[in-house]
Amino acid sequence: MRAISLLGATGSIGMQTLDVIRAHPDAFRLVAFSAGRNIEQARHIIEQFSPKVVCIAHKEDAHMLQSEYIGRVRIVSGEDGLVEVATVQEADIVVNAVVGSVGLVPTLRAIEAKKTIALANKETLVTAGHLVMKHAADYGVTILPVDSEHSAIFQCLQGERQKNIECIILTASGGSFRDRTREQLQHVTVEEALKHPNWSMGAKITIDSATMMNKGLEVIEAHWLFQLPYEQIDVLLHKESIIHSMVQFHDGSVIAQLGTPDMRVPIQYALTYPDRFPLHIERLNLAQVATLHFQKVDMNRFRCLQFAYEAGKIGGTMPTVLNAANEEAVAAFLAGRISFLAIEQCIEKAMERHVPIAHPNLETIRAVDLETRRYVKSLHM
Ligand code: NDP
Ligand code: MG
Repeated sequence: MRAISLLGATGSIGMQTLDVIRAHPDAFRLVAFSAGRNIEQARHIIEQFSPKVVCIAHKEDAHMLQSEYIGRVRIVSGEDGLVEVATVQEADIVVNAVVGSVGLVPTLRAIEAKKTIALANKETLVTAGHLVMKHAADYGVTILPVDSEHSAIFQCLQGERQKNIECIILTASGGSFRDRTREQLQHVTVEEALKHPNWSMGAKITIDSATMMNKGLEVIEAHWLFQLPYEQIDVLLHKESIIHSMVQFHDGSVIAQLGTPDMRVPIQYALTYPDRFPLHIERLNLAQVATLHFQKVDMNRFRCLQFAYEAGKIGGTMPTVLNAANEEAVAAFLAGRISFLAIEQCIEKAMERHVPIAHPNLETIRAVDLETRRYVKSLHM
């Protein structure tokens, strides 16, 4: 029986994680979780799983919920609350499925508490990958990828040695606007951007997919998870999202992981690793699919991907700036305050003015994150 603490239970990854837990009641139990604003959903989860601790993002909501569950569930709030959920004594595995760099500190604390980390929250590795990976090594903790591309690579690398890797190839669907020119991107709406062709996901990552920043964040995430230089990380457009990613070895062999696009596969693999449990999802029917398409990525068309490579190679606090600027710009786009193409402009400006600081500690990262958010807000209000 593995005890799970789930950060971001009310989100897209969170709900699918609950599906996986529900499907294997003899293998998993939920001991703690966090929610943001979706209190109704939090109630359902409490009723169904009877966890010990629950974190609600806002204090007022947490107080209200606590009055309903006095003596039954401990309800906490804010960042301290997230840390409490991430370090709850009973948990063996912490699934981090919150969105944004708010997931960083709970991840570091969970590592200190020696929890296995199933990481969906890519922003954590983008903003402070060096701290998270060093912490994991120092405490002897395993970080298991949940992101489908990274899970694919992780699966391709089972039984392989790091030194045999020539490069890894992250596949990219191209998002909602993969067939549009830059001209056509000028007046796209939030509704159009939120329609991803292959995956149903939270709003922020759906926009990130449309700008290709998602792939950029994943390049940095892969750099840290697999300890590879950026020169050994490639991106390939593959519109069907059936090959989830590949590894090319020094002998020219390429190993890929395939499947229908369903996040429950990588979520469950992270929870059962190194085992595989049955999963009742649609099977891949390659005869029916018949053709798979691949295309080189145009870095001028997808400027956010270019920014991410640049930020990753510069290192230090530059990826923190990339991430914070992107989070703020995407929030502004979703709120209807800026245009789609202004997202990349905000990121470019924030990176241009930033003088990177090498080997930043947590305090520096948090200061740079805050400062970048303030700057991006000042650009469009
Ligand atoms: P969602 O927006 O669907 O869910 C985010 C979760 O985080 C919700 O539970 C939300 O609470 C909570 N949350 C949001 N803001 C805060 C905050 N400030 N403090 C505490 N909790 C907060 O996102 P996704 O599930 O799509 O994505 C989660 C992470 O996984 C992201 O980092 C994303 O990049 C990554 N990922 C997602 C994939 C997907 O298929 N969705 C695929 C691969 C990676 P509430 O809803 O209650 O407000
Ligand atoms: Mg992904």
